[in-house]
Amino acid sequence: MIILKIGGSVITRKEEDEPTIDHENLKRIAGEIAESTHQKLIVVHGAGSYGHPLAKKYAIGDEIRNKEDLERKMMGFSLTQQSVKELNGLVTEHLRREGTLSVSIQPSSFILTENKRIKRAEIALIKRYLELGFVPVIYGDVVLDENEHIQMAVLSGDQIIKFLAENLHAKRVILATDVDGIYNKNPKKYSDAHLIETVSSLEQMETGEETNTDVTGGMGGKVSELLELLELKIESEIINANTEGNIRKALNGENVTGTRIKK
Ligand code: ADP
Repeated sequence: MIILKIGGSVITRKEEDEPTIDHENLKRIAGEIAESTHQKLIVVHGAGSYGHPLAKKYAIGDEIRNKEDLERKMMGFSLTQQSVKELNGLVTEHLRREGTLSVSIQPSSFILTENKRIKRAEIALIKRYLELGFVPVIYGDVVLDENEHIQMAVLSGDQIIKFLAENLHAKRVILATDVDGIYNKNPKKYSDAHLIETVSSLEQMETGEETNTDVTGGMGGKVSELLELLELKIESEIINANTEGNIRKALNGENVTGTRIKK
């Protein structure tokens, strides 16, 4: 089973404050997935401009100060949940149109976190969809949190892949984003940044500065999730989804420029 994460930076215009889809990329990527020869596949996608600006505006995941603050955050939760669901609708639709039997899975309806980390999830359902031959499509969402001081949290697609890979024993984990992989420093800011082909610890890179306003941790957040997977002996790779053919090749097991997270 392969888990493919498509970054919000790839299918949305992440620098926009308003939800903006990148139709061209989404159509091409859906085509590449349909053309590949994978067997069991789960697609996880980020929220990009459909999630982060709203989650930030309503400070979801921050401590609740009083009743008014709770009500405001609940409004933000409701708005964010609807917005990312709309993006998910577009993703599943494109996948289906290009020939993949996709099925939409809404995290806020089956995942619960505690202090922003997944605590419980109805994983048997996803197993069943996979066994039937569906391609489940899961995404970054807002979810209920068991910490009474926050009640609600933002759940990143990156945390979801870690959880699914661990619990469904994924054979391969592929992260597709808008850069070639992990660099020693942000390649969008420093022209002399160089790509690191193999990463086995956080010390190998600087992740402090992000170009995108990601409320869930940007590249640093991704690498920590993937390093946790590595502890469980699950290796992963980061590739550039903006390079045509990369997703198809990676799904087919061909070599693609990128970063491998392995010992
Ligand atoms: P996605 O939306 O695809 O999940 P993010 O926007 O969260 O991706 O993270 C990817 C971005 O992280 C890149 O566009 C890049 O600007 C930034 N970044 C920061 N530091 C690094 C680094 N050391 N290596 C690669 N990318 C980095």
